[in-house]
Formats: sequence, structure tokens, C-alpha cells
Amino acid sequence: MNIVLLGPPGAGKGTQAKKISEYYSLPHISTGDILRENISNNTALGLKAKSYMSIGELVPDELLITIIRERLSRSDCSKGFLLDGYPRTVPQADALQMILTEAEKKLDVVLNIDVSDEELIKRMSGRRVCGTCGASYHLVFNPPKKDMICDKCGGKLLQREDDKPEAIRNRLMVYKKQTQPLIEYYAKKGILRTVDGGKDIQQIFEDIKKILENYD
Ligand SMILES: [Zn+2]
Repeated sequence: MNIVLLGPPGAGKGTQAKKISEYYSLPHISTGDILRENISNNTALGLKAKSYMSIGELVPDELLITIIRERLSRSDCSKGFLLDGYPRTVPQADALQMILTEAEKKLDVVLNIDVSDEELIKRMSGRRVCGTCGASYHLVFNPPKKDMICDKCGGKLLQREDDKPEAIRNRLMVYKKQTQPLIEYYAKKGILRTVDGGKDIQQIFEDIKKILENYD
């Protein structure tokens, strides 16, 4: 079963990816993780990726294609894979199609975790981080014992600029602009399945399992 997982920031994509990967014994392929790993190990690939990221530029498609092609050719992908964080654009989806065709594979299903903007803003704007030790909290889902004070070190909890509603709205706008054409692309191919990401974690996973029952 070859799966691509899509979802906006804050939709719980990472959590679902982990559950799917464990339940179906599929390798979870996250381009973000691969890049971070290569950067921290100072590999040639990591150094190349870092040269773009350190000046605030996106890692170029050719580099991502190299990473994906190499990763999908490994033996643990012979029974399937779960791709997370790639593709993000239509040209990347075309590139993936090319890689899969070369490898005589095909994409079975694209799972799109859909969550309303208001819900995403509620989830993400509740995040707080300890200014002293970096521990993270959530005002609703994981609140500190004392208001705005870190349980672990007594430091003051802060809201990162990134987690303020204005910044979140901006990130969601960028995500949508980039991803909407991709969603339409996969809908046209007839392999897009939308999952209601507004439910709780376990219920979302049950819905995903129901969809994946139809594939082997
Ligand atoms: Zn702390």
C-alpha cells in the first residue's frame, strides 16, 4: 500500500503518520526528518540542504527528488510506504509520479486530513513554551499545573511569535495556496480521500483504517 499523507500544520499529521506506520508496518518517510538527520550527521546531502536552509531558501526540487528516489528504492518499501511532507506542490507530484513509474510502483491513496481554520487556530494558539527549559504545554490539551509557570523548572511560559493567531493565519494561507492545486490534482486522479481531522486522535485513526481497508 503506497500512501501520501497531506494535512495543514496543526492537523495532527505526525501523530496519524506514526499510528498508520505502526499498524500497517509501513515505513514512515518524512522528508523533513531525512533532511534533519542528514544535516545533523553532516553528510554531503545534509551540507547541501543546509546551504539553502541557512539562507532561508527552500531545498530545491532536484535535491528532494534524489532523496525520495533513494529512499523509495530501499527494501523496506517493497510492501509499501507512507510519504509525509512530500509532495507539497504539483511539480513535485509530477516528479513523484515519474519516480514511481521508473520503479514500477504506483500511488494507491492520498489521505488528506482536513481541519477548519478556526479549529487549527484554536489548537495552535494554545501552545506555550517555557522560556527557561523549553518544555512545551498547551492551555487546553496539556495545561501547566500553575498558570503560565513551567511544571518542570518554574520558568515563565511564553507564546512563540509563530503561534500567535496572526502568524498562524498567515501560515495556513501559504499552505492552502500551495496545497489546493495538489489536492485538486489528486482528486482528478481519483485517489484522494478526505479525513475529518476535527475529531479526536483515535477517531481520526479509525476513519483512516476504514478507508485503508479498501487497499492491500
Ligand atoms: Zn521550564
